[in-house]
Amino acid sequence: MTWFKRMAAPKPSGDAKRASVPSGLWTKCPSCGEVSLAEEVSRNLETCGDCGHHFRLDARHRLEGFLDEGSLTEVAAGLLPEDPLEFKDDKDYLSRAKGAAEKAGESEAFLLAKGRLFGRPVVAGSFVFRYMGGSMGSVVGEKIVRAFELGAEARCPVVIFSASGGARMQEGIFSLMQMAKTTVALNRYRSVCQPYISVLTDPTTGGVAASFALLGDVIIAEPGALVGFAGPRVIEQTIRQKLPEGFQRSEFLLEHGVIDMIVPRPELRDAVALLCQHLGAR
Ligand SMILES: [Zn+2]
Repeated sequence: MTWFKRMAAPKPSGDAKRASVPSGLWTKCPSCGEVSLAEEVSRNLETCGDCGHHFRLDARHRLEGFLDEGSLTEVAAGLLPEDPLEFKDDKDYLSRAKGAAEKAGESEAFLLAKGRLFGRPVVAGSFVFRYMGGSMGSVVGEKIVRAFELGAEARCPVVIFSASGGARMQEGIFSLMQMAKTTVALNRYRSVCQPYISVLTDPTTGGVAASFALLGDVIIAEPGALVGFAGPRVIEQTIRQKLPEGFQRSEFLLEHGVIDMIVPRPELRDAVALLCQHLGAR
């Protein structure tokens, strides 16, 4: 090897390019292992451009990406939890809720909005999973009821994106009551004959799965989403049997008739708009 060759700078490799960008700007896909710019993944609604893996997507980003640009108007943002049971574990409930709001950057576990989808008025809501695991308490239940009431008033479709660990145990029976309350509101909304599209994202479990989330006129799931009442670990421990591969994932549920279709996130906007049109939304 000559002196000149030894001194020549090495060609920049993928690793070197990555090293020149500060950490935190890259996202590694757990499914295919590809490393992509976080900004690119974000533009793609938090999906991997190589294999289509779906990362968790925060509620505001989701609704902004789903509705027509600039059409999102948040509704009932001021609803905050109360603590009728004066529940306390190692922290009191309201302090925990305050911490959750700071962590999630949202005031509660559900974001409700009015907006437009290809020009058509819609009511859309999304769970905030980062707020106490998207658990359903009185505020979430009330916002879902308002979603159906707004949909009935405007005679327009309602689209709900679920991502929840289920009922909020800190609210005890008040959280379980939301299952009945939201179901009654949905039944009332049905009198205006507009579509209710339920979109199940990873994970949709517990009281949310056992009420309005699985009552959509059309039930869509994102690929690979975990959907069920109890989680697979609890079921395995209860029945003392190994569950089949992919049990409670979207693909398994579609095969077994629990959901109507699986739609990758980047195609959801078009798919829901088409469904609304076919189902006679104005
Ligand atoms: Zn990937």
